[in-house]
Amino acid sequence: MNEIKIFSPATIANVSCGFDVLGLALDTVGDEMIIRKVKQKGVRITKIIGQDLPLETHKNVAGVAALAFLAKTDSEFGFEIEIDKQIKPGSGIGSSAASSAGAVWAINELLEKPFKTIDLVRFAMEGERLATGVAHADNVAPALFGGFTLVRSYEPLDIVSIHTPRELFATVIHPHIEIKTSDARNILKTKVPLKDAIKQWGNVGGLISGLYTEDYDLIGRSLEDYIIEPIRSILIPAFDAVKKQSLKAGALGCGISGSGPSIFALCKGEESALNVAEAMKLVYNKVGVDYDIHVSKVNKKGIKIL
Ligand code: ADP
Repeated sequence: MNEIKIFSPATIANVSCGFDVLGLALDTVGDEMIIRKVKQKGVRITKIIGQDLPLETHKNVAGVAALAFLAKTDSEFGFEIEIDKQIKPGSGIGSSAASSAGAVWAINELLEKPFKTIDLVRFAMEGERLATGVAHADNVAPALFGGFTLVRSYEPLDIVSIHTPRELFATVIHPHIEIKTSDARNILKTKVPLKDAIKQWGNVGGLISGLYTEDYDLIGRSLEDYIIEPIRSILIPAFDAVKKQSLKAGALGCGISGSGPSIFALCKGEESALNVAEAMKLVYNKVGVDYDIHVSKVNKKGIKIL
C-alpha cells in the first residue's frame, strides 16, 4: 500500500470540567487527507484545499508531526500529504490536532504500524506545539484513540480511553468570531480557590463514572465548569443565552469547546441533539452572528480509512 485516504475527526477538548485533560472525538466533521509513500525522502505538503494554510513542511502542523514521527524511524521512504481542510482553524474543535494526528496515523499505517497509538500521540503533540506554543494532548488523544480520552499525566504521558455511552451525541455551534488561543489562555487565573477545585474534581469523577455506567443524568450533573468557563465565556457572544436555551431544549450539559469560540452540548440521542441545534441557532439568528453547526454521535473509532 503506497497511498491512503483518511478521515481525521474534529474533537472537543476540556468537556466542561476537564480543562486540559478530557477530550472526545466527533463523527460528522473532520479533515480528509491523502498520504502517499514516495521514494524521495522527507515530508512535502503537496496540496491544501478549503483553507489558506502554509504548504511549507515546517509551518504546517501535519508536516511537523510527520517529521517528528520520521525522526524516530530509519524509513527509506518519504511522504506527500494532501489536506482537504474541513475544520476551520481557530474554531475550538481541534483543527490543528486533526491534521497532526491524521498525518502520523496514516504514515504509521503505510509503514505497517511500527508505533503504538500512545507514540503517535507524542508525535502529533509536536504539531500542537507549532499551532499553540504548547504540546498539549487533549485534542490529538481523542482523534487517535477515538471516543472519550483522559490525559491522566504528561510526565510520563499516560492516556486513558474512557467508555463512551451508545446514545451520546454532541451538538457544536461555531460562531464566526475570532478568539486567539493565546488570549483565551492569558485571561485565565493561575490560582484556583480550594472550594472551586473541590467542586471541579467532584464533577470530573462524576462524569467518568456517568460515562462508564451510561448514567445520563449523572453525566449532565457533572458537566459544570467552576474554574475556566466563568472567565472564558466572556469572550463568546451570547454564551449564557446559548447555554440556557440548550439546557431548556434538553441538553445534558453545555460548555465551551476547547478554547472557544465553539460551544458544545452533550445530548442523549440524535433527536435531542437536533432539538438543541435548533435552540442554539435561534439565539445566534436573533443576535445576528453567523455560525456553522454540527450534530454528531461521539466517534468511538477516531481516525478511519475512507
Ligand atoms: P482550533 O482552535 O480549532 O483547535 P487551532 O488553534 O488548534 O485550531 O489551530 C489553528 C492554528 O494552527 C492556526 O494558527 C493555523 O494557521 C495553524 N496551522 C498550521 N497548520 C495547520 C493545519 N494543517 N491545520 C490547521 N491549522 C494549522
